[in-house]
Amino acid sequence: MLKFIGDWLTNKICETAMDELTWVEISRSALENNIREFRRIIGPKTLLCPCIKANAYGHGLIETARIFLSAGADWLSVNALFEARMLRRSGITAPLYVLGYILPEGLREALELDCRLVVFDKDQVRDIARAAKAAGRPARVHIKVETGSNRMGVRLDGLVEFARFIQKQKLVEIEGLATHFANIEDTTDHSFAELQLRRFIEASGLLKSAGISVSIRHCANSAATILFPQTHFEMVRLGIAGYGMWPSNETYVSFVKERKNNFHLIPAFTWKTRIAQLKTVPAGEFVGYGCSYKTSHKTRLAIIPAGYYDGYDRGISGGYVLIRGRRAAIRGRICMDMLMAEVTDIAGVKAEDEVVLMGRSGEECISAELFAQWAATINYEVTTRVNDRIPRILV
Ligand SMILES: *Cc1c(COP(=O)(O)O)cnc(C)c1O
Repeated sequence: MLKFIGDWLTNKICETAMDELTWVEISRSALENNIREFRRIIGPKTLLCPCIKANAYGHGLIETARIFLSAGADWLSVNALFEARMLRRSGITAPLYVLGYILPEGLREALELDCRLVVFDKDQVRDIARAAKAAGRPARVHIKVETGSNRMGVRLDGLVEFARFIQKQKLVEIEGLATHFANIEDTTDHSFAELQLRRFIEASGLLKSAGISVSIRHCANSAATILFPQTHFEMVRLGIAGYGMWPSNETYVSFVKERKNNFHLIPAFTWKTRIAQLKTVPAGEFVGYGCSYKTSHKTRLAIIPAGYYDGYDRGISGGYVLIRGRRAAIRGRICMDMLMAEVTDIAGVKAEDEVVLMGRSGEECISAELFAQWAATINYEVTTRVNDRIPRILV
């Protein structure tokens, strides 16, 4: 009997026998460890706001939220209204910050769910004021300031006027000031991040000189939180590192170069399935679509019931899965719901044996970073892409 984080769309958490072809195991102790590590480095006063958008980076929205909060997180941030709705329906009462855009039609519900909203546009502020009136409750907003990423945000030269405009609206209250780094994890040269930080500090100064008070300033993502304590301000928006993954190799290298404190992240994500069929194929035969692989010897193949529908990237080449703690090379193309791997040299393999698609098995480990390398992408995309339909099981 295993505990399912469950069908996240219906937010059903059930105890059920294991009958899924593929599942993801989430380590509770790893998530707890990571949150505690961040609490240690940001100190007791800075608010810790993990980002649980994208189904908690693929880890399961609701249970991850609960674990993060019980391990010491103060706030949670999501991208969209539907995520906030699911969290509230699950009884989560922690402050929620919505990072992304909400359509005007959704604003009233967002306020009724007691969400903090990010603002960057006067029309949007007018819509929020209207929604606040309709909901009969104040809206707490965070001004997103443009410091260099040219995503959402108001430019510095219009910031004070924008803030004054917000102050004129009834039931709209400026609570926060935010920005987001564009080039912090992609490089070990942090000059652009430093420029953005200077602009953010300038923005904060402009509001202060204008007599506009902001109680929560926040700009730090994982890389900034780890590398630059001066970015912590009153809150940090911790994303990928809360799940135990480093934002990038560059961030890791910068960290090791600049700091020597022991700071330990533990990945929480293991993706598993089972062998559906074993077969022996003579030399000189093809495997899979497009006849892209040809056996050069008598080959023992495991047919594995996971494919690109599940989020196993079809572009992967040179990858392997782990069976009995050994590497089994993928042969032929990844199919929609299946893939094939060679187990010729792995003794004792049987049908229904467990297969690790991502994570640890014995001495071997397919990290999200290694998987990302095979798929020519980044660790962020790898775990978020594992289909939400696949159960997340807390271990
Ligand atoms: C996703 C996100 C974060 C977290 O980023 P990580 O690199 O995963 O730590 C922080 N801020 C905003 C605005 C985000 O969208």
